[in-house]
Amino acid sequence: MHFLTVLYSRAMGLLSRIMLKFISLSSPLIYSGAGSYATLCSAIARFGHKKVLVVTDKMLVELGLVGQVVAELEKQGIQTEIYDAVLPDPDFSQVENGIKHCLQHSCDAVLAIGGGSSLDAAKVIAICSGSDQAPRDILGYFSVSSRGFPIYCIPTTAGTGSEATMVSVITDAEARTKCFIVDPKLVPNAVALDPSLMTGLPPAITAATGMDALTHAIESSLSREASDDTQTKALTAVGMIFGNLETAVKDGSNLEAREAMAVASFYAGAAFTITNVGYVHGLAHQLGAICHLPHGLANALFLPHILEFYIDKAAPQMARIAKAAGVGSDSDSDAQRARALVDAVRQLEANIGIPQYADALKPEMVEELVDRALHESHGLYGYPVPKYMRRAECEEIVRRLLPA
Ligand code: NAD
Repeated sequence: MHFLTVLYSRAMGLLSRIMLKFISLSSPLIYSGAGSYATLCSAIARFGHKKVLVVTDKMLVELGLVGQVVAELEKQGIQTEIYDAVLPDPDFSQVENGIKHCLQHSCDAVLAIGGGSSLDAAKVIAICSGSDQAPRDILGYFSVSSRGFPIYCIPTTAGTGSEATMVSVITDAEARTKCFIVDPKLVPNAVALDPSLMTGLPPAITAATGMDALTHAIESSLSREASDDTQTKALTAVGMIFGNLETAVKDGSNLEAREAMAVASFYAGAAFTITNVGYVHGLAHQLGAICHLPHGLANALFLPHILEFYIDKAAPQMARIAKAAGVGSDSDSDAQRARALVDAVRQLEANIGIPQYADALKPEMVEELVDRALHESHGLYGYPVPKYMRRAECEEIVRRLLPA
């Protein structure tokens, strides 16, 4: 059975490598630095749009961040319509209402302002409003037939990297599952990585979203699909996150640390969108869907355990990540440096207030969580992990998260 799992996952990996050879993945135009949101607004005006649908959440409207950007767009002569009904982990109904809103108000482009939830919802709203496809028609890999309306993004968290990826995650509320849409047409046209819009992000969300970015970078670097280009991006992101996340959490108004986190999150997204992710995500998606835990926190809870599981098979790759993080020394063996990486991740998590247990996880949820995680990691997506996991090993890792 284990042999078949390995064979199937490798076949899926080969298939995705072949497909990636035939698709061209563009990179968005990037504006970065404090105030870059205004530069993006000027660019949107130059691209000739008349009316832009702003996709966001109510919190960001209340904080005044959306008003700031909308005022800039209107100064540039662009009309705006705000759709602020996005909730964390957006579901199909929120996206479908957004599409209706976009069509009713005759918008011709979509601007996302917010975290991964707003960005993911906006990507699907733009694709489906500007084409005749419905959100459920484009689930899975490479099912988007036409580009739809242009997508612009201003991320206000530094974590998901959605502004760089060809991915959108939409929750099926009834089935309690996260559905994936993966297509190069989901890569945004242009983005602003503006730290001045991130200074009010509370420490706990800064910590959890930052760990999401670190997980992307580490899983991408450990992926069997990694290339020289993705390694450069992933390892650069690792170094920037180890160097800046704690400062961003403890001194939220530090623009340098905020900008470094925004750039690192973008690099990590640009890397994992090619290499795919691994068991940390396979498990975290289920923990998020079953226990309603924020995505970054769910990743952070599993990350040290999965790294520990990999040590005997992936010490050289982990040692390379440790080096990028500035952890351990060049005289260490690979195994010693891999161990140092696990310890450093645990220490970073402790320093930024990430808990070790998932309070909402109950013993009776473990079986379902394990089944779903292995289905996602081995069956559905065939994650290109450096070491395959048996069911008992997976269950043992999940049980470590049960509240003591
Ligand atoms: P989020 O977008 O759900 O936002 C979390 C909270 O932070 C919200 O309440 C929001 O209002 C608040 N917030 C955001 N920016 C703020 C700011 N500057 N100041 C104050 N509050 C602010 O969280 P997230 O972690 O960014 O996104 C998670 C979603 O992204 C999940 O649905 C996950 O599945 C998805 N995701 C997508 C990708 C991708 O490639 N598309 C990758 C990873 C995760």
